[in-house]
Amino acid sequence: MTGDTSERSEPRVSPSIRFIERYLKKREPAEIMSLLLVQIDSFNRVATTFGTQASRDACEDYAETLRMLLPQGSHVIRLSERRFALLMTPDSEAVVTDLAEIIAEAHQPRIEVQDSSFSVDVKLGAAMCPLHADDALTLFRRAELALQTARDNDESFAVYQPNATMHQATKWKLESDLKGAIANGEIEVHYQPKVELATDSVCGVEALVRWRTKDGRAISPDNFISIAERTGDIIDLTWSVFDSVLESVQSWGTLKPSFGLAINVSPQVANHSEFCVRLQALNEKLLKFDIKLAVELTEDSLLKSDSRSMANLHKIRELGVDLSIDDFGKGYSSLTYLKQVPATEIKIDKRFIETIGVDETDQQIVKAIFDLAHALDMRVVAEGVDSEENQDMVTALGCDIAQGFLIARPMHGDDFVEWFNNYGSNPLEIEELNDRGSEQIYGF
Ligand code: C2E
Ligand code: MG
Ligand code: MG
Repeated sequence: MTGDTSERSEPRVSPSIRFIERYLKKREPAEIMSLLLVQIDSFNRVATTFGTQASRDACEDYAETLRMLLPQGSHVIRLSERRFALLMTPDSEAVVTDLAEIIAEAHQPRIEVQDSSFSVDVKLGAAMCPLHADDALTLFRRAELALQTARDNDESFAVYQPNATMHQATKWKLESDLKGAIANGEIEVHYQPKVELATDSVCGVEALVRWRTKDGRAISPDNFISIAERTGDIIDLTWSVFDSVLESVQSWGTLKPSFGLAINVSPQVANHSEFCVRLQALNEKLLKFDIKLAVELTEDSLLKSDSRSMANLHKIRELGVDLSIDDFGKGYSSLTYLKQVPATEIKIDKRFIETIGVDETDQQIVKAIFDLAHALDMRVVAEGVDSEENQDMVTALGCDIAQGFLIARPMHGDDFVEWFNNYGSNPLEIEELNDRGSEQIYGF
């Protein structure tokens, strides 16, 4: 087709954008104008559970709540059934942040069905004029990016960050490549050893996934696990970790009695209908090599456990598989849930271990956690042990097992047996092996 395309390539401007443009035009030079996008996140679930009428009524009521919360002269624009744009002229950025917190925490939309009332999640993203943009379309796109960031990080609110566009573009690229990477075998598993402190012997490994791209780079799981969780690719990714682990163990043979092997599992995988069947199959195969399998679930995800996921945790234990609470102490720990979760181990988050040498309060907290775990008959692992000082400190506080760069970085399965056989024999050799087996991981 020929002809002038310049007119056609102009973005179609929606009435909402035109409204925002008119609002921005009224701005005095010293004024800030902010655009806050609000999205009801569990809208589809609400509609399926309670019917479209109930969800529509709830959204109507919610629009009214938003109007009441905003200062005079602000506007609420209904973008779609579950999305709203709030326009206002705040005195400072802090006013926007405070309002977003109030909306997200204290005024969540509620669905009233008969005598029951259910709260629904909202996510908010903000961008400001002139700080982030001075035209309506850019302002809108940037608020949209902030909203996406909030959703990706599972936070209720985010303000646009100038580098978010690049960051988001990289994420989208990873997201679109991930499915292919899983299918093409670009997902590999590395192993980080754990050492029993009382005997200074290697007692197990943690399996940590890496994405080895075609050009040979290893991408850190921190960059793609949350994406995989959002897209649902985490399911196939975990099954491919199961396969890799079995392959590695078959190549290692039996290393020592009850050698531990821990696999990280996201909550949606633990709740997947095939999980227990696949876990059982893997466990039976690993038992032939005298491997004691463990599942690591983060404290954060365990805190959100409902009765169904709690039942799944019990099933894991019934299979004879250990259950470890990962990153313990990272969030707001509720000690009562420790009583309910059938865990066999707690892994103290590495942020505690980093400061344990300098912060006496952290030492006291860690000691109390160790004592409590032992009282509940759980093992304690310190992760992120990267100096002699840290290792001495956690040993003195009563820790059972250490894992960290001091002992070894995660390494390829092919290097593990050699490392294992040399552990403790000759420090120089271990250094060399650590260097060879050590990895370079890329983030963005
Ligand atoms: P995690 O399970 O808490 O694993 C420990 C992380 O700490 C690993 O990062 C490890 O390389 C790093 N680490 C170990 N020792 C040290 C140390 O001394 N200092 C420092 N600074 N870091 C240390 P990695 O491999 O990048 O994994 C990050 C997270 O990704 C894991 O944290 C885990 O939550 C997640 N992950 C890894 N593999 C999987 C998987 O197969 N499935 C799921 N769902 N999540 C996974
Ligand atoms: Mg872990
Ligand atoms: Mg951890």
